[in-house]
Amino acid sequence: MPVNATPMMRQYLELKEKYKDCLLFFRLGDFYEMFFEDALTASKELEIVLTGRDCGQEERAPMCGVPYHSVDSYINRLIKKGYKVAICEQLTDPSESKGLVTRDVIRVITPGTVIEESMLREDCNNYIVALFMHEDHIGLTYADISTGGFYVLEFHGTGCEEDTLNELVRIQPSEIIANDALFLRENFVRSLQRLYYIQCYSSEYAFEPARAEQCLLNHFKVTTLGGFGVEGMRYAISSAGALVDYLEQTQKNTLEHIRKIQVIHRSEYMALDGATRLNLELTRPLRFDGPKNATLLHLLDKTGTAMGGRLLRTWIDQPLQDARRINERLDAVDELFKNTLPRKNIAERLGSVYDMERLGSRIAYGTVNARDCVALMLSLKQLPGVIESVRALGAPVFERILTNLDPMEDICALLERAIEPEPPISVKEGGIIRDGYNEQVDAYRHAARDGKGWLAQMEAHERESTGIRNLKVGYNRVFGYFFEVTKSYQHLVPYHYQRKQTLSNAERYVTPELKELEETILGAEDKGIELEYRLFCEIRETLLACIERLQKNAALVAELDAYVSFAEAAASNRYCRPEITADGSIMIADGRHPVVERSIKDGFISNHTQLHQKDNRLQIITGPNMAGKSTYMRQVALIVLMAHIGCFVPASSARICIVDKLFTRVGASDNLAGGQSTFMVEMTEVANILNGATEKSLLILDEIGRGTSTFDGLSIAWAVLEHIADSALCGAKTLFSTHYHELTELEGKLEGVVNFRISVKEVGDDVIFLRKVVRGGADKSFGIQVARLAGLPDPVIARAKTILKDLENADINRNFICETPAEPQQITLFGSAEPDDIVQTLQGLDLNRLTPMDALSTLYDLQLRAKLKYDETNSSSKSASGQSDRRR
Ligand code: ADP
Repeated sequence: MPVNATPMMRQYLELKEKYKDCLLFFRLGDFYEMFFEDALTASKELEIVLTGRDCGQEERAPMCGVPYHSVDSYINRLIKKGYKVAICEQLTDPSESKGLVTRDVIRVITPGTVIEESMLREDCNNYIVALFMHEDHIGLTYADISTGGFYVLEFHGTGCEEDTLNELVRIQPSEIIANDALFLRENFVRSLQRLYYIQCYSSEYAFEPARAEQCLLNHFKVTTLGGFGVEGMRYAISSAGALVDYLEQTQKNTLEHIRKIQVIHRSEYMALDGATRLNLELTRPLRFDGPKNATLLHLLDKTGTAMGGRLLRTWIDQPLQDARRINERLDAVDELFKNTLPRKNIAERLGSVYDMERLGSRIAYGTVNARDCVALMLSLKQLPGVIESVRALGAPVFERILTNLDPMEDICALLERAIEPEPPISVKEGGIIRDGYNEQVDAYRHAARDGKGWLAQMEAHERESTGIRNLKVGYNRVFGYFFEVTKSYQHLVPYHYQRKQTLSNAERYVTPELKELEETILGAEDKGIELEYRLFCEIRETLLACIERLQKNAALVAELDAYVSFAEAAASNRYCRPEITADGSIMIADGRHPVVERSIKDGFISNHTQLHQKDNRLQIITGPNMAGKSTYMRQVALIVLMAHIGCFVPASSARICIVDKLFTRVGASDNLAGGQSTFMVEMTEVANILNGATEKSLLILDEIGRGTSTFDGLSIAWAVLEHIADSALCGAKTLFSTHYHELTELEGKLEGVVNFRISVKEVGDDVIFLRKVVRGGADKSFGIQVARLAGLPDPVIARAKTILKDLENADINRNFICETPAEPQQITLFGSAEPDDIVQTLQGLDLNRLTPMDALSTLYDLQLRAKLKYDETNSSSKSASGQSDRRR
């Protein structure tokens, strides 16, 4: 520290030393100031003026500042850029402090610990994650301190990193803290860093199991964690304890609203990996800048409350596995679907319900203001009406809601009685307590408001009683209120008047009554404001004791809101209730793609789907580009997923079995997510699918293998299909679209495989898409017709036709076509030609006995034979017009 630093600068530097990794917002009167490095950073990031301040050194300290009343927007900008901000407040009143004002950091705001309404999105949670890694085990805790949600789960074994990444795609945290060990896994950390703001939590010992557990016991005020169902979850406990520790360190608050640990059992939910979530556009559009209305969430979210919206998002992200729970939701939706009036009534009332869940956190933080109280009161007032409408509904869910929904009449009445209907934001400037709530406040208010009248009354009274006709009440800052009497009336001045001041032609007096009135009038406003604040703090305390009731209500309202939303979506989009079955089959009549159908003006063409456990389990779908293959396959995936979240589905009827995992993959050349998807990524993903899929899974594979050359791609697709079809290895229900028409030959050869194609009609040079999925494989690609529809210039189309014709006749200069030769060899894949002698030689080799020299000479021999044979084939194909296969 500089030797000559001013006392205030010394105070600053001491605090900054403790919060090195943060930008320190140092309160100085009406501003938050930043100094030195922080000032340089903040002035650049926030584009605010950099000035300087004397700090006892030769050079002035760089300084910049932001006004306290608009600090949120500045903090928000810094947080979004990944900074942490430490808020340092003045803890003593500068006007009453002798010497330096006491200051300390009252909170550190980080991306995952924001609670300010203006910095949060109301439609999604803001999660902070703690990861604890030990060998092949990962404990993951995620919490939203703006709502109080606190969840734990664990991953074990070699796939634990992959599983964690997939789970994080669902959670979408804004901040991750992790233990040291995790940072040793470079690849894992790199993957995390690409997506999230991750930091190593410096308090490593907070992860230490015994300490972590103790931290949880202290926070939840329990003697054992048994009640939360986390026994034996030592990795999760380590991460949870460290997270609580981190929150306590940064928030400096008891976090009363985080009251329970919820264990996430992954087996209770349909497994969806990150790519599938993205591909199906569940809650986010596929492309970063894609339209929001492309998502399933956007379509189904008709919720009236913020908490309902967030719950609906969670439901979409976590489809259920338990038929009983799914049916419970479906029953509720069904009731609301059939009973329009109660549904509309509930929806209307919920539309006026405020974000009670986030209010709970502001109550816990003590930052709730009078406007929040009014909003809470108005929200609670909606509940009796909601309850009445719910009574008209029959499903068991509603009984539970009726039993537990608590209109909190006591609180509602208190708030209505105590709080002004339109209070200011500030709770320290008065105007928040309602007339009639507290006599003293009324008296002060009365005094401040009516003081002038009282003085006039007193003046009249004194004139009357003394007979001094020109007596008047005056005021100055030195003596306060006084009676002024001109010299001519001095003889009438009563004995009890005390002289205070003499002027040239008048005298000024005071009386005890006048002083009393003065005190009432002058002190009234300040005292009133102070008393209002004290009363408001008492109300806040009362609310603090009700957090649990409030949170329970918030959860029930959110649930009800989500059912209403599903029912509303079902009614407005013509959905039907799916039947959840245990027979392992998926039967959809007249299925539609829920999102695409909304954008098709000429009417969406519905399609039936039947997938069984044994036969008809693996559909190979062919058809030209743009025919509707992807749409059809995604529609099946979405319908299955919608059924699992308890939502009605776009079909005329649907029987859906429980699906344990849903995978959706698009071939590499579709170039997902801004060019990141390469063939390598595609293959890694396919590998994950083949390793993870079971006979209860549903796979949507859209042109797998197209990211490489024709032969490679075909071979890979072929082998993948064989693997999936083998019920001993996989046996998953699969929709597989492909341009490799050769694959249609698998029907009848592999168990469960059936061919479908999306029908098109050829009219002259044009192709008309009929969009109907029909049995059988496609025999033509219609690539050129589709290209024409896409607007390729006529000369290019004409040239393409010529080339195609030449290709079909194989009468063309090979150099011109492509690198791959024409494909008569490919027939060997299907076993329809005799294996040639080169292959036979290869097959006959015993590699274990072959010496390196023998191997080399055999290779030499094989190559020579191949060259000879190749030249033969080539020249014969030039002389005869051999048939070559055509690709799109
Ligand atoms: P493919 O995967 O075969 O190339 P897509 O599934 O991408 O084709 O479909 C192309 C376009 O065709 C879609 O964007 C949509 O506009 C339209 N489409 C697809 N299926 C249907 C359908 N069943 N009814 C009406 N239009 C459809």
